[in-house]
This record gives sequence, C-alpha cells and structure tokens, in this order.
Amino acid sequence: MGHAPWIAYRVSKEPSPGTGSFPKPVAEFLEPEHGHGPMKILIVEDEPKTGEYLRQGLSEAGFVVDLARDGLDGLHLATTSDYDLLVLDVMLPRMDGWAVLQALRASGRAMPVLFLTARDQVEDRVRGLELGADDYLVKPFAFAELLARVRTLLRRGRSKEAEVLTAADLEVDLLRRRVKRSGTRIELTAKEFALLELLLRRQGEVLPRSLIASQVWDMNFDSDTNVIEVAVRRLRAKVDEPFEPKLIRTVRGMGYVLEAPGHP
Ligand code: CA
Repeated sequence: MGHAPWIAYRVSKEPSPGTGSFPKPVAEFLEPEHGHGPMKILIVEDEPKTGEYLRQGLSEAGFVVDLARDGLDGLHLATTSDYDLLVLDVMLPRMDGWAVLQALRASGRAMPVLFLTARDQVEDRVRGLELGADDYLVKPFAFAELLARVRTLLRRGRSKEAEVLTAADLEVDLLRRRVKRSGTRIELTAKEFALLELLLRRQGEVLPRSLIASQVWDMNFDSDTNVIEVAVRRLRAKVDEPFEPKLIRTVRGMGYVLEAPGHP
C-alpha cells in the first residue's frame, strides 16, 4: 500500500470514500466572536494513524490542533495551554483517558471533552459522564461524525453564559479573560490569571504551595524557588492592595487562601 496509513484508514471509514478531501474549512471558527483567534483543539491519541488522521482533518476544518501521544503529555498540554476542546482517547499509555479527565476537572479546567472509546459499553459511558466527559464517540467512526460532535460541543460551550467567578467585588470572566474589582479593570499576566483562577475556584481552601506549583507552573516544588511568593505578591498588589476587603491570605507554613470575609 503506497499511501500514508491514515489515508487508508480514512478511505475505509469515511461514508463517501475517495473524494480525497476533508469537509471544507469553516470560517466561523477562524473568527470566533470573543476574538481570541482560531479555536484550539487538543487530541490525545496514541495510535499514530488515528492521531494524524484527526489532526489533519481538524486542521483542514479550520482549527488549531495539537496532538499528544500519551495521557501524561496530554494532561500536561491541557493544563498549561488554553484549549477550547479536547478529543481524548480512553486507552492511552502512561495515564489512561479516565485519569486524564479526572485530573483535568480537579484542576478546574472546564473545556468540553469528547471521549473516543473502542468499546461500546454502558459502564464506560456512565463512568465517563460521571467524570465529566461531554460526549462519546465509539471507534471506528466517520470523520464527518466527529466534526459534527466537535462543532456541537463548541457551539454549546460558546452559547453558555460567560463563566464568571466572584468573591466580594472581585469578578473574573473566564471566557473573556477579564478581571475587575469594584468595576475597575485589572490587567494580569497569564500566570497571575491562572493563579487567581485557581484560588477563586477553590475559594476558602488553603492551597499548599506544592499544589499551586503543579497546577499553575506545572513544576514539582522541591527547590527553594520563591516564584510562587513573588507571583502572589504581584497578584495582591493588583487585586488586593488598592481595595477593601483583602481577599488573599497567607496561611503560615501551609499556603494561600482566597476568601471573602464573612464567607461561610
Ligand atoms: Ca488508544
């Protein structure tokens, strides 16, 4: 067979084989309304031909696509970069799709996840949905079906009201990446934003430095680096110092907590 493996795969799975092209690019995804460039999709798939096939198809449909070949790499990418959607295989080396999804949701990432499963089994579906998967596709599937599911999930995600996290008069708009306090716009760096988002999502919980390090910087906190202290200080200077009440507190020897006074 002289073709690349994914072509053979595509021809055998597509409902109308031999056309040699994926569905036309979709302009709406190139210029989303909230204006942060093309929609980004992460594919986590260990089978090379399926991964390449999906990467090429979704790229041609106008998405920016990254491909991870195992669960750990997938989780790393998903928690350090901003994706609008994940296509996640269940059976993966190093960390399976279930574990990836669980870790992803635990880290506060709420992007839609489309699961790819080889087994059409009820318990798999139930388990995935309980863990927070948004949809399923059972292998083998036609690319057109995957694309339709992807579009539906993205549309649903976009039509949702903007997700806004608040504490006292602090407002963080996660979709627009905007921060306001008492109605005043505050500019944060990407890391400061990620740190604030984490603190807000886990409001009232004391977050150890090691957890902040792994979730915001994706590093193990085994050195004497003061990167977190510095970032928290900068964040406070922007969101707390000019305002009342103070929201971010240091808990000596333990970590940091964001809490509105009087909050239960
Ligand atoms: Ca697999």
